[in-house]
Amino acid sequence: MQTGASTDQGVAHETGRVLKQVFGFDSFRPNQEEIVQAILDQRDAFVVMPTGGGKSLCYQLPAHAMPGTCMVISPLISLMKDQVDAAAATGLRAAYLNSALKAKERVAVQRDLMAGELDLIYVSPERFAMEEFIDVLGHVDLAFTAIDEAHCISEWGHDFRPDYLNLSTLTKRFPDVPVAAFTATATHRVQEDIVTRLGLRRPHVVRASFNRPNLFYKVVPKQKAMQQILRFVKDHAGESGIIYRTTRNSVEETAAMLAEAGIKALPYHAGLDPETRAANQDAFNRDEVDVVVATIAFGMGIDKSNVRYVLHGDLPKNIESYYQETGRAGRDGDPAQCLLLFGYADIPKIRYFLDQILDADEQQHALRCLNEMVNFATVHVCRRTALLKYFGETYPESNCGGCDVCAGEVERVDATRDAQMILSAIARTGERFGMMHVVDVVAGADTERIRQLGHDQIKTYGVGKDREKRYWRFLLDNLLAQGVVEQTEGKYPVLQLCPPSREVLFGERQVHVLRTRKSAPKRKAGAATAVEAYDEALFDELRGLRRRLAAARRIPPYVIFSDRTLHEMARKFPVTGAQMLRISGVGEAKLEKYGKPFMEAIAEFREGRGAGA
Ligand code: ADP
Ligand code: MG
Repeated sequence: MQTGASTDQGVAHETGRVLKQVFGFDSFRPNQEEIVQAILDQRDAFVVMPTGGGKSLCYQLPAHAMPGTCMVISPLISLMKDQVDAAAATGLRAAYLNSALKAKERVAVQRDLMAGELDLIYVSPERFAMEEFIDVLGHVDLAFTAIDEAHCISEWGHDFRPDYLNLSTLTKRFPDVPVAAFTATATHRVQEDIVTRLGLRRPHVVRASFNRPNLFYKVVPKQKAMQQILRFVKDHAGESGIIYRTTRNSVEETAAMLAEAGIKALPYHAGLDPETRAANQDAFNRDEVDVVVATIAFGMGIDKSNVRYVLHGDLPKNIESYYQETGRAGRDGDPAQCLLLFGYADIPKIRYFLDQILDADEQQHALRCLNEMVNFATVHVCRRTALLKYFGETYPESNCGGCDVCAGEVERVDATRDAQMILSAIARTGERFGMMHVVDVVAGADTERIRQLGHDQIKTYGVGKDREKRYWRFLLDNLLAQGVVEQTEGKYPVLQLCPPSREVLFGERQVHVLRTRKSAPKRKAGAATAVEAYDEALFDELRGLRRRLAAARRIPPYVIFSDRTLHEMARKFPVTGAQMLRISGVGEAKLEKYGKPFMEAIAEFREGRGAGA
């Protein structure tokens, strides 16, 4: 269908129809319609939208609706095939050109491209730098160019790619072709850099909200990380999840621990050879394993829409990273969980790395960022409000319903008296001992060392023996995080008092900590909490069917239908084409390609159910 670009009244109506017919969606996500319109109006556009916001649709819909071809610049060759498969499953005419293609395949794609038979051509930035390819483009009717992951052009961004700098010639070489740039990276500095480097011409700028309403944020004290991780993964058996760990070793150990416990998990870090890395990512993409345990090297290439949780086993170094990493959960819009295990011991490890930064300003900045991250984890403020505040956004609701604080799972308790006990123990032992020993003193441990040092004779010995050592460690973590006590650097860090400690000791300052409520209330059915009820047995069956179809076609399962779409099928039991088309995510092409086996499976399931009842 080629409607051409026009600005008359019918257009809004028209885009809505294409949205339903081709993509199978009933309504646009926030900002999508406005961006689509700008592109149809042949304006440059610059779009900052969070992961999962639905950026692809913003250029795919116009690519389908406008005459000519949309060139998509995309940084990851490994991802291009999946992107093209996804577009093709939706019924778009799409292909890619990159170094992974054989010469013969490349020639065929170039022929289709020049013959005007493609809605979308995905290319890598390297390809765009080749004169030979520019010559080909000279024979192509380019509708517009879409630049995905546009922050890669900025040296301020975290994924800078020198190849992206080539793209600054785009508007000079093809002055008549509009450019739409997309990124999920939030800072204003990066934004300005991108617009300047690409030479966008009075672009239509959209900064979407960074709120991810379907994500549930939760922070718990890190005690025994391995056990906590295992329990969480078991509680989410069969769901896709990413576990982030800081070091390659802990990635390997965690993946091995999970595998040992019978969970399908694979590691991912920069120390693995590229083939293993690609194979592990692929297995995850294809739902062949449930869990990837990864360092931050596992990032941009994840377009998998049904990641149901992201668990941070260690403290991220700043809120930006935490946000980007948790952002990989729940792209399909269904509820997803973000769990952070917070332990004070992670802070000095990060500080150690920040100490290596040579530029003093930059180091200060990094330290401030780390403090903000620690605050996020330890302060009794809605997590969502805190995250959005970091991006300069004010979250309007007083209760987000989608974090442990707002859901009432944690409470703020006055721990001033307990803090005084600890601080007093530190003072009375001469500020010469580490965490373990101080905890032993307060908890009244009967150890050789305590007796030797005569610490069983001091006044605070055993004042806290009615509580577990774990509690005292937790409290010390909090005091450190709140700067109420300090810890020396080095191999044997000792605890020392600082001015705020004295304020607490003299009763001039209170200490509050966050604690998991004993009888945590049931989560309200808020935005980020529960998927609407669906038939789980049917969902499992449909998911199995999806996996088999995907394997046969060598494409990732989510390219066929998202989890969200399968949930809706398992709720509404569509068995006719018309019923199928009413399901969100089922457009005409997908109905034709995949509708039949799914309708059959649903009909069969219904019959089995009827007979059994
Ligand atoms: P981004 O690139 O912004 O991270 P994607 O383009 O990958 O996000 O889209 C994320 C998910 O949202 C995909 O599964 C996509 O099919 C879905 N999606 C996009 N637009 C809509 C919409 N209007 N209604 C429902 N789902 C949508
Ligand atoms: Mg994307």
